Amino acid sequence: MAEYVKGAAPDRWHWSKQCTQYPRIVKERQLRRPSSDLCDECLDIERIELRKKATA
Ligand SMILES: [Zn+2]
Repeated sequence: MAEYVKGAAPDRWHWSKQCTQYPRIVKERQLRRPSSDLCDECLDIERIELRKKATA
């Protein structure tokens, strides 16, 4: 299960450890997907992962 984390403000929600912007010091965390402020890079990684799963 993904965990959504946020670093020091201003930051957006990250949930992929492969993200280069993934915060080293987590200030906030939650298990439910936030409705806004999602990291673009994490979204890209997620899309790639889903595609991999779909073709596997
Ligand atoms: Zn991210």
